[in-house]
Amino acid sequence: MSGFYSTRGDKNSVSGPQAVLRGIAPDGGLYTLKDFPKIPPQELVGASFQEISRRVLGAYLEGYTREEIDGCVERAYANKFDVKEIAPLKQVGDKYVLELFHGPTAAFKDVALSVLPQLMRCAMEKEGRSDRILILTATSGDTGSAALTGFADVPGISIVVFYPDKGISPIQRAQMTTMAGENLGVCAITGNFDQAQTGVKRIFTEISPEFCREHGVSLSSANSINIGRLAPQIVYYYSAYLELVRAGRIAMGDKVDFCVPTGNFGDILAGYFALLSGLPVGRLICASNENNVLTDFLATGTYDKNRDFHVTLSPSMDILVSSNLERLLYNALDNDASAVAALMAQLKETGRYILPEQAMARIRERFVGACADDEAALAAIGRVFRETGYVMDPHTAVAWRAAEDCARADVPCVVLSTASPFKFPASVLRGLGAEVPEDAGEQTALLEKLSGEKAPASLAGVLERELRFKDVIDPNDMMQYVLGKAARA
Ligand SMILES: *Cc1c(COP(=O)(O)O)cnc(C)c1O
Repeated sequence: MSGFYSTRGDKNSVSGPQAVLRGIAPDGGLYTLKDFPKIPPQELVGASFQEISRRVLGAYLEGYTREEIDGCVERAYANKFDVKEIAPLKQVGDKYVLELFHGPTAAFKDVALSVLPQLMRCAMEKEGRSDRILILTATSGDTGSAALTGFADVPGISIVVFYPDKGISPIQRAQMTTMAGENLGVCAITGNFDQAQTGVKRIFTEISPEFCREHGVSLSSANSINIGRLAPQIVYYYSAYLELVRAGRIAMGDKVDFCVPTGNFGDILAGYFALLSGLPVGRLICASNENNVLTDFLATGTYDKNRDFHVTLSPSMDILVSSNLERLLYNALDNDASAVAALMAQLKETGRYILPEQAMARIRERFVGACADDEAALAAIGRVFRETGYVMDPHTAVAWRAAEDCARADVPCVVLSTASPFKFPASVLRGLGAEVPEDAGEQTALLEKLSGEKAPASLAGVLERELRFKDVIDPNDMMQYVLGKAARA
């Protein structure tokens, strides 16, 4: 049966446009598929990134017409990325690096958040919606700016972003707090990303329908809990694979491993969806920093978030509750929504759950976990630069280390690079063993000099721009804050 089902037990399915508009299911579950569309890579030989996007989004997001998907993809990528391939693949040493950071905010979230506002706008028109949509988003650093950029001045849609006051880089903060656009809101919370995400999820399930009706507003999400975020991420697994075939590195049908710096588990889950659609994916290596809940989960079958939260040099991976894992559990438990709901209830009450061995075995057929702390990531940045001349950001460096741990001699490994090194110049300079200047502008200049690369044009001057958003609130006050925004939206 087609359509999107809640992982927690809606009996009824919704269409692609409905799932995109809602973001999260009314029961708190995530929309996912029971059966996955087959997309044979043989049929996409020679296709551009946009052509692969059209094919993947068309296959996944049932309910949009072909013309609608074509229009969304066209508008999403026209002139927004600084390379025509969108996601170029580079050989670095004995591995490949898939650069996903060539969009307007220099992190991989741009790939999907360029498309999502288009899909949402189109869905509103299809569904004949006259209310406003208020997007709520929790960010560990990069989703915020990518979502704000994607949604800025989109008619009928407003957006509020919550970010942890401590723990994101100065450039990440400035990208959000200086963003222009009448329909934007940005607010810091005195807590970490998990608290921001929990707060947002709670607002979705607790806001009263009367309030929404009265103010003519409905809520949705730009986080990877939205299926409209996930589907565009499947595309670059295909594009990377097809590039390896084109370049003669593999034959069509050969397996390729992918190593993914992981936080909310959205990026790597898209790789699993690609596999379920017929891409010859070998292993999916789940790379974590010191917040290594997922490494432990994959090793032991116990998910346990009762542990210290570490603020690391790879802040976009500082997450203890990886939302999208829920979609993998649903699949590994043979689409048993009540079993998923029970595990999620346990997680909420006790902070942990144990996945039955059979489901765990299924996950382990494909997933392997590895983690690297800040020191290991910095060392990798320096070593890879000395050996190959390639400069990585700290998130990519965590994945590089994990890929080294899990490498197989006979299977090519693609490391997903999720951010430009120029987004984290201080950490990268440390990794390179350079003296780190105090001034952020000087850091960028020094990194340009050492790496021989230009900083992305989109990051230029961001630290000097005028501050527009200064709100800082307690995580417990998020509902209040949103009600105020919604009433004025
Ligand atoms: C968001 C992000 C990640 C983690 O991706 P998930 O889909 O949340 O697992 C990794 N690296 C960077 C730079 C990010 O912005």
